[in-house]
Amino acid sequence: MFSFSSIEQYHALLRTGNLTCVQAVQHYLSAIEQNKHLNCYLEVFAAEALQRASELDAQEIRGKLHGVVIGIKDNICYKGHKASASSKILQNYTSLYSATAVERLVNEGAIIIGRLNCDEFGMGSSNENSAFGPVLNPNDTSRVAGGSSGGSAAAVKAGLCMVSLGSDTGGSVRLPADFCGVVGYKPGYGRVSRHGLMAYGSSFDQIGVLANSVEDTATVLEIISGPDEFDSTAIQSTLEEFDLKSTKKYRVAYFPEWMNHSSIDPEISEQLKQYIQLLKDNGHDVQPVSFTLTDFIVPTYYILTTAEASSNLSRYDGARFGYRSAKPSENLYSFYQHNRTEGFGKEVKRRIMLGTFVLSTGYYDAYFTKAQQVRQQLKQQTELIFNDFDLIIAPNSPTIAYKLGEKDKDPLAMYMGDIFTVFANLTGVPAISLPVFKHSSNLPFGLQILSSSHNEVHLLRFSHQLMQQ
Ligand code: GLN
Repeated sequence: MFSFSSIEQYHALLRTGNLTCVQAVQHYLSAIEQNKHLNCYLEVFAAEALQRASELDAQEIRGKLHGVVIGIKDNICYKGHKASASSKILQNYTSLYSATAVERLVNEGAIIIGRLNCDEFGMGSSNENSAFGPVLNPNDTSRVAGGSSGGSAAAVKAGLCMVSLGSDTGGSVRLPADFCGVVGYKPGYGRVSRHGLMAYGSSFDQIGVLANSVEDTATVLEIISGPDEFDSTAIQSTLEEFDLKSTKKYRVAYFPEWMNHSSIDPEISEQLKQYIQLLKDNGHDVQPVSFTLTDFIVPTYYILTTAEASSNLSRYDGARFGYRSAKPSENLYSFYQHNRTEGFGKEVKRRIMLGTFVLSTGYYDAYFTKAQQVRQQLKQQTELIFNDFDLIIAPNSPTIAYKLGEKDKDPLAMYMGDIFTVFANLTGVPAISLPVFKHSSNLPFGLQILSSSHNEVHLLRFSHQLMQQ
């Protein structure tokens, strides 16, 4: 029976004729069927994936992702396929074009096997805000998979695809990767084109990669990154093929304010501290750096992202596309009101209202302008840190995966769980979660590593080094 360990090993099996792409797809289709209860996939493109696999089997292996079976988060467009962002408002929406990232995967021979469940429009940390039900954690199905890319993380963990795409506006790749125990990578802002990613907070959003290893993550990243005429914020330089192997000793910072934060599970803190010692023993130069803006990061994130979301989501009015209410409308206003009231879920509405409030006359300067100033300060502080250090290590989350229903009635508690992940999005720097820890409850949790945007290659090399140990 086929079991996947890496793209390289998979390609070796294809080359020696011990496996075909069709067999690989069949394997995933039956695994998806057997794990339906996890609720990872909103739709599986079974017939199409098999057809493409048989076409690939008839060709030589040319593409770097030849026959690689990939699931994509449901807020990423794939031409001719539905994409709903796990929202009722887009339930029957079919994409007219593919996201640049998806197009690049397909051009390298990837097989897109289906679309993955997530929090509605990426808004959430537990995947409980999906209009189509939560994703269950494959390690313990009474617990959340994390969000918002819960389906993307759980599918990789449960062996329901080889790699997946997610999106990360404030931790949505890293947090579910941490909760499920896989690698989750958020590229630096602009590394990957956002064309075809449904906008949540446009100055924060990035498409990210979830995989079993740093090698597979890097392979996919190389392919999806690079300039794109459809996204003016995509950076011009390309990420050339690079060697992951390195024995370089790094200068690594950590924030004692995070390690000892009042909200952190003492066991997470303890294991991180032991890990710092291990890094030192291995010759890395690890130093504490005081980070005084910790209390401001969650409020700043939620003011700025809700403001951007309130504007981005105004396009869903039910007139041109998306859900349209059956209720009769006496005027245009009530037409919009019915469509949006019935189409959006509770958390999305909360954020649209919050965002509209912080942008309103009279409150704009007090909230939005202030938050932008804090974001600027955060960027400056971060730049100073990266003058002296190559990398920062941190927790991803104050807790391990919690029980379904444990936090979803308390939005503030949920927002506070984002305290360690939103920093990378506020400052635009790349960040990864590596599955290196195990809690006494037997659940995995991850190590977060951040670098400056110029240092992405070193972030991946360091991560690779750690995963080899
Ligand atoms: N939990 C964060 C939020 O709800 C992160 C979301 C994301 O990265 N898409 O905004």
